[in-house]
Amino acid sequence: MKTAVVPVIWIICVALLPAWLVAPALSMDEPGLSLGLLAGWLGMGMIAASLLLMVREPLWASWFGGLQRMYQWHHAMGVVGYLLLLAHPLLLAYHYLQLDAEIAWEYLSPFNPQATNSLGWAALLIFTLGLAVTFVSRLPYGLWRRLHVSLAVAMGLGLGHAWFVSGFSNSLWMVVLLTIVSVGWRLLRADRGMGARPYEVSQVYHPAAHITETILKPLAKPLLVAPGQFVSAAFFEGPYFQGCGDFHPYTVSQVAEDGSLTLSIKALGACTQHIQSLQPGVAVRLQGPYGTFLLNRPVASEVWIAAGIGLTPFLALLRSQSVMQQTDLIYVHRESEHIPYQSELQRFAIEQKHLTFYSLTMETDPSPLFAWLEKIDRLNEKQVYLCGPPPLMLKTTQWLQQHGVPRQQIHFEQFDFR
Ligand SMILES: Cc1cc2nc3c(=O)[nH]c(=O)nc-3n(C[C@H](O)[C@H](O)[C@H](O)COP(=O)(O)OP(=O)(O)OC[C@H]3O[C@@H](n4cnc5c(N)ncnc54)[C@H](O)[C@@H]3O)c2cc1C
Repeated sequence: MKTAVVPVIWIICVALLPAWLVAPALSMDEPGLSLGLLAGWLGMGMIAASLLLMVREPLWASWFGGLQRMYQWHHAMGVVGYLLLLAHPLLLAYHYLQLDAEIAWEYLSPFNPQATNSLGWAALLIFTLGLAVTFVSRLPYGLWRRLHVSLAVAMGLGLGHAWFVSGFSNSLWMVVLLTIVSVGWRLLRADRGMGARPYEVSQVYHPAAHITETILKPLAKPLLVAPGQFVSAAFFEGPYFQGCGDFHPYTVSQVAEDGSLTLSIKALGACTQHIQSLQPGVAVRLQGPYGTFLLNRPVASEVWIAAGIGLTPFLALLRSQSVMQQTDLIYVHRESEHIPYQSELQRFAIEQKHLTFYSLTMETDPSPLFAWLEKIDRLNEKQVYLCGPPPLMLKTTQWLQQHGVPRQQIHFEQFDFR
C-alpha cells in the first residue's frame, strides 16, 4: 500500500515548524550565520517529528500506509535531520571564518570546554554512532535496538546545546514537547504494554519440531484483525514457561469468530525458542492490528510466494475465505519431508477451484523458485505477493522486475523492522 500524501505533508509541516518560528529573527546580511541556525532548527525539527513516527499506534500507523511504511519515513526523516545537523556547524564555521580564523576555531572547536560546544559535539557524535548502527543489519536485534535508542540521548544533548545558545525559545519548547510526547507515548503504550489487550493461551500445537501454533483467547474486547495483518505480542511467565516479556511482531494465522487469534511462531532467536515450550494458561498481551499486506488487493490474477514461516499471512487468508481470482501459491521451504502446513494447503487447493499450490524444497539459492516462476503464463500481468526472509525477497523482487513484472504489481511483507 502507498503512503497517503496528507499525513506525509502534515509530518513535514510539523518538522518545519521550529525553523519557521525562528526564521523571522534571522537576517540575510549574515547568510552563513542565518543558514547555520536554520539548518540546526530544521535538523532538530526533522528528528523530533521522526520520533512521532516510531509510535506504535495502530490507527496512526494505518494513516501512514502501515507500520513498516511509517518506519521508512521515520528513518528517512532521521537521516535528513542528521545531515542538516552536520551542516549546522559547517555553515557557522563558514560565517566565522570570514571574520577571523582563530575566532572561528575557538567558537566551534570540539575542545572548547564551554557547555555549548561540549553538548553540541557530544550530540553530533552520538547521533553519528547511533545512526551508523541503524544500517548494520547483522547486529543482534536487542543490541541494535539499544544502540538505536541511544539517539534519544543525543536528542537530549542537542536540546541542552540549543538551550545554552538561545534559552527557552518557542522553537525549543516545540522540539522538547514533540520529543517528550513521542518517547513517552512509545515507552508507555507500546514498550510497557499500556496500549495492549489481555489474552490467554488456550491451545498449543506443534505443526513441526521448530514451530509452535497457539490459539489466544481474548480476556477483554478482542482486537479486530483482518487476515494478513500482524500483532505485537508479549508472552508472560507460566508455571513451566519462561516468557520473554517484551513485545515481538507475529502475523495472525487465523481469526476465529469469538475473537480468538492464532499465531504460528518459528524458533529463531532467544524469545521464539522459549515460545516453543508455551503452555495453555499463559498470559499474553497483544497490540495491533498492524499491516496492510493483503488488504485492498486489486482484482487480478495473483502469485503468492511464501518462504518458510512467511506462509502465515497467506494461511490466514486461505483459512478465512476461498480465493476469488486465479491464485498460484508457491510455498518455499527447506524440509523435504514433514513439511509444516503442507497437507492443509493441499486440502485448500482441492477445495478452492481458483487456487493452485506448489511446494518447493530449496536452500538459499533461489534458482528453483525462479524456474517455477518462469513457467507461469503471463507472469507480468499478475499481482505478486511475497513474504519471507529479506534476502530472498530482495532477489525475487529483482528477478521479477527483470522479467517484466512492474514494481507496482509486486507487494511484500518484511519479517524485520530494521
Ligand atoms: C511484520 C512481521 C511479522 C512477523 N510474523 C511472524 C510470524 O507469523 N511467525 C514468526 O515465527 N515470526 C514472525 N515474525 C518474525 C518474528 O517477529 C521474529 O522471529 C522474532 O521477533 C524473533 O525474536 P527472537 O528474540 O526469537 O530472535 P532475535 O534473535 O532477537 O531476532 C531475530 C530477528 O527477528 C527480528 N526481531 C527480533 N525482535 C524483534 C522485535 N521486537 N520487533 C521486530 N523484529 C524483531 C529481527 O529482524 C531479528 O534480527 C514477524 C516479523 C515481522 C516484522
